[in-house]
Amino acid sequence: MYVKGVGPARAAMLEAKGLKTVEDLLLYAPFRYEDRSNVKTIRELAPGEMATVIAEVRSTKASGFQRRSLGLFTATFTDASKALLNAKWFHGGYLADVFTPGQKVALFGKIEFDSYSGNLAMMHPEYEILSGEEDGDASLHTGRVVPIYEAAQKVTTRIFRVLLSRILEAVEPMQDALPATVLSKLKLPDRWSAVKALHFPPVDSDLRLLNAFRSPAQFRLIFEEFFWLESGLELKRAKARGFPGIAFGLTDRVREQIKKMLPFKPTGAQKRVLKEIADDMAAPHPMYRLLQGDVGSGKTLVAAEAAIIAVENGYQAAVLAPTEILATQHYFYFKRLFQKLDYVVIALTGSATAREKAQIKKIIAAGLAHVVVGTHALLEEDVQFKKLGLAIVDEQHRFGVEQRQALMEKGSHPDVLVMTATPIPRTLALTVYGDLDVSIIDELPPGRQPIVTKHVTEDRVEQVYSFMKKQIDLGRQAYVVYPVIEESETQAMKAAQKMHEHLSTVVFPGVAVGLLHGKLPSDEKESAMEKFQRGETKILVSTTVIEVGVDVPNATVMVIEQAERFGLAQLHQLRGRVGRGGEQSYCVLVTGKLNDTGRERIRTLVESNDGFYIAEMDMKLRGPGEFFGTRQSGLPALQIGNILRDGEILEVARSEAQAFVGHPPSEEELRSAVAFIRDHWQRRYGLVQVG
Ligand code: ADP
Ligand code: MG
Repeated sequence: MYVKGVGPARAAMLEAKGLKTVEDLLLYAPFRYEDRSNVKTIRELAPGEMATVIAEVRSTKASGFQRRSLGLFTATFTDASKALLNAKWFHGGYLADVFTPGQKVALFGKIEFDSYSGNLAMMHPEYEILSGEEDGDASLHTGRVVPIYEAAQKVTTRIFRVLLSRILEAVEPMQDALPATVLSKLKLPDRWSAVKALHFPPVDSDLRLLNAFRSPAQFRLIFEEFFWLESGLELKRAKARGFPGIAFGLTDRVREQIKKMLPFKPTGAQKRVLKEIADDMAAPHPMYRLLQGDVGSGKTLVAAEAAIIAVENGYQAAVLAPTEILATQHYFYFKRLFQKLDYVVIALTGSATAREKAQIKKIIAAGLAHVVVGTHALLEEDVQFKKLGLAIVDEQHRFGVEQRQALMEKGSHPDVLVMTATPIPRTLALTVYGDLDVSIIDELPPGRQPIVTKHVTEDRVEQVYSFMKKQIDLGRQAYVVYPVIEESETQAMKAAQKMHEHLSTVVFPGVAVGLLHGKLPSDEKESAMEKFQRGETKILVSTTVIEVGVDVPNATVMVIEQAERFGLAQLHQLRGRVGRGGEQSYCVLVTGKLNDTGRERIRTLVESNDGFYIAEMDMKLRGPGEFFGTRQSGLPALQIGNILRDGEILEVARSEAQAFVGHPPSEEELRSAVAFIRDHWQRRYGLVQVG
């Protein structure tokens, strides 16, 4: 469709923002609305309020530094009330070319009292020049509740307004594809009125609702986006579960073997998730299940129980771990757990020699190993299982979807259990990890004392050392961790080496201090870990290679250097290395000077031990894209919905989608929904093979 005002240059700018079609534009939601229907005059304004002002430029002034871009730019405005208002911008020199006396401007911001001039003032207000080329109808921009759009390079909020009003006039009303039953049940406005109201809210609109993204129109469009997404996922899930898989028998023998293995009484949460897993495994379809649980919640034990179900049914179980250290830990842990059951547990990691590897692979292929623990080495093509029945992936955020796939392909539709210690709310998990079902361990094993977390600045690190000394004198152990800044394990290694030197000779002479980093040969890594595990070394200086899975209950102190460089979730994981025994444990976050976000991040950790809360804060502070990372290709690119802001709409949409797909009002309605999802949603969300 040709839209007047969109030539090749603008089209390119729009496209760079993902706006390729008229439909994209129609769903390009304003990020804010301003009530310009009855704007106050300057004289009516009071300091402290947020306000929109429509006024005329009287004069401008750049002052301060010689290079005008560094200076303070002040524009003085006036209106019919004859009162004056100063708008000020630091580093605002460039605005000298923007404002000229006589111009009419809309300003939005907080009103302050400028004691210097005695006038009211706004600091860094948002502004919109109310005259200029290609303006459309003036009533688009004032005299009503006005939408504010994020600019797409030179396509300003004003241009968006004009384009959208033209498009809305020119196009045919859109079809409403939402099922009629859902529409009437939730009393949603139809799609076309919703789209119109999104851009040009009706006169009686509630500004607060609009700016909270909860006007009926916004709700409807957000709901719709989630509804189709969740319906697509639901169909995809149903289809995947339709494949033939292994129906493991849950015999008395299985139960006895599990009982025999268990070193302690499982928590209620562990029992509940095991039941969910066992039910899946018993069903004649493949299991794809995500096991979420905070650090130390005992996921590994549940994985061991699942492995028993597989092995007792004559299958092999594979456990994939992201690092050699974690794989080795799991290897020893499983070996200990399965000792009484006479299972053969074997490890395959990158550090084994070629001969060892060949030997191990033979054992796996012959089916002589019941449980195989390994790193990426497990995924190599020539690793073949005799009969793989259960694939377990630990710390799944470290792996991509393809790697999970590669492991699955080593069996014939094996059951899959992936585990993560970065837990997020259930509905969100079901959406982001699209094809997985979700089990959640929301309870820690008994007797755990919450870890006490403190923040200390670098200049007071001596206090940290004397605290460590006291704990060591009590017979406890401590970690000191250095950050790995992406791609520079070398740098972190150097820092760790230096600190190891300093701590072992200067600060703690006579105390055994170990060193662990990713660049060590693996036998040295292993021996450093073992010595610490056995208590031979009291302090372990390390890079983040210990982030996941390391389990030394006697360690009660975790000191994290340059903590401001870590992500929140990562800090929480590191902290989870202590507090694993009965003793009170401590985490000390050492930082340099912090900015506001930095302070907030550190405070989150000091105040909370709850992995769900921390993951949520992390997501908020970093944004979902960054939080899930590029590896998590499942994260859908949403048009109007926002998984953080709209969690409760997501919940509603999911339950409606589940009901609709599970019990469609008619075959006909389901068929047309499937067709709609195929057409409109497949490409964007990659919902391949829907229906
Ligand atoms: P996660 O992998 O979830 O971080 P782990 O499986 O490593 O946690 O378990 C943490 C620690 O808690 C381990 O030392 C484990 O043996 C212990 N543990 C697990 N379940 C229980 C339980 N039900 N009672 C007591 N201790 C448990
Ligand atoms: Mg674990």
